[in-house]
Amino acid sequence: MSVEMDETEVEDVVENLLGFVDAVVLPLEKEHAKLLDDPRLHYDERGAYSPELKKLKREVRQQSAEAGYYNMFVPESIGGGDFGAYMLYRVWDALYHRYGPARLLPYASVAHWSYGPSLLCSYLTPQISEQLLQPLMAGQITSCFAMSEPDAGSDALAMRTRAVRDGDDWLITGTKQWITNSPVADWVFVWAVTDEELRRTRKGGVSCFALPVTTPGFQVDSVLKLFGHIGGDEGILSFRDVRVPSTALVGELNQGFKLAMAGVNTGRMYNAGRCIGLSKWALDKASEYAGTRKTFGKTIDQYQGVSFQLADSAIEIYAAESMTRDCARRLERGESVNDQVAMVKVYTTELGTRVYDRCMQVHGGMGLTNELKLYEGWQQSRIVRIADGSAEIMRRNIAASLARR
Ligand SMILES: Cc1cc2nc3c(=O)[nH]c(=O)nc-3n(C[C@H](O)[C@H](O)[C@H](O)COP(=O)(O)OP(=O)(O)OC[C@H]3O[C@@H](n4cnc5c(N)ncnc54)[C@H](O)[C@@H]3O)c2cc1C
Repeated sequence: MSVEMDETEVEDVVENLLGFVDAVVLPLEKEHAKLLDDPRLHYDERGAYSPELKKLKREVRQQSAEAGYYNMFVPESIGGGDFGAYMLYRVWDALYHRYGPARLLPYASVAHWSYGPSLLCSYLTPQISEQLLQPLMAGQITSCFAMSEPDAGSDALAMRTRAVRDGDDWLITGTKQWITNSPVADWVFVWAVTDEELRRTRKGGVSCFALPVTTPGFQVDSVLKLFGHIGGDEGILSFRDVRVPSTALVGELNQGFKLAMAGVNTGRMYNAGRCIGLSKWALDKASEYAGTRKTFGKTIDQYQGVSFQLADSAIEIYAAESMTRDCARRLERGESVNDQVAMVKVYTTELGTRVYDRCMQVHGGMGLTNELKLYEGWQQSRIVRIADGSAEIMRRNIAASLARR
């Protein structure tokens, strides 16, 4: 487990990371402003990231890996920085607060479990590790985490994808949906049923396999597009008798679900950091605007109808930040905080859409424009109310725990 750091040390690391983004990533943004400012240039004809954007993101990952930031949350046993849940929260809060929504490059500076090296990589066999780990850690390539299916989202164990033995190999068949980064990933971590009886009785029976996207029988069927965007980050994947060697198994046979859940609590601190950071960014913008925009001869922050919307947002951000800091510290100390993580996930992700709605309102018509990009922050917060464990599933878990008591 990672070492707990004091607040000054945490702040130093966060400041250094922001310094890296300012010094290395922002000049790249400036240099490629034409590409980054035009959504039509972000995607290819399928709706996946365009080669130009992929190249830029790769450049950020590689530079960050060299500077020592990209793998900061990867276990030490495989060469990462091994920072824990608290730092994870602080880093993402700081990044989203400073750079706001609708920026593509700053966030490529730190590997996220959905596309970069993670805890999963410490369970690779030597044969797969030899091919995958080094380029993934160097930021040259990316992966994706393929668990959900068209009929298995919240109830992931309802999955139908199967892996059956064929000599020394496995043959994988099924469909995965909603898989982040899959349209451009180089490798796939896929979960499949390997023992139907264990799965049916919910005692295991699901295993994880790692395979390159060039494996015959694998394909990205389509890119999922959200909120009217012309491209997207999520895809639908099909596996038709995809043959992988036994060395492709990640972790223990039939124990893949546990493996997928192993880092989930820590991973949820990312969602909290993202929503809190984005909310702070929006509140800064709305407060500034309310202090300068005049109606009926006064700045609008002098009207209670406006200023209380800002105050309510500040109150809720403070509450969200306090609960997340407490939860992340306890998580890092190894305490059992499943309920608290669920509470943090619900509160912080719902906070995001509330704060964005108010900040749009405070900006009047300007709040709805493409120029201010407030809609992007709302959309991002809206997504994480569903992805990575929906708000209802979180509430269900909290309620079940209360009932047990
Ligand atoms: C942008 C995005 C990115 C994603 N990335 C990935 C990824 O990289 N890898 C991956 O494997 N998956 C990914 N997912 C899938 C995500 O985990 C699922 O969308 C999520 O688990 C919900 O599943 P579902 O969409 O099938 O909704 P369903 O499970 O069908 O739920 C529909 C509605 O019913 C509610 N509901 C369901 N069951 C209950 C219950 N028991 N009690 C109360 N309410 C309930 C849900 O909260 C929801 O409101 C992503 C999803 C999104 C939107």
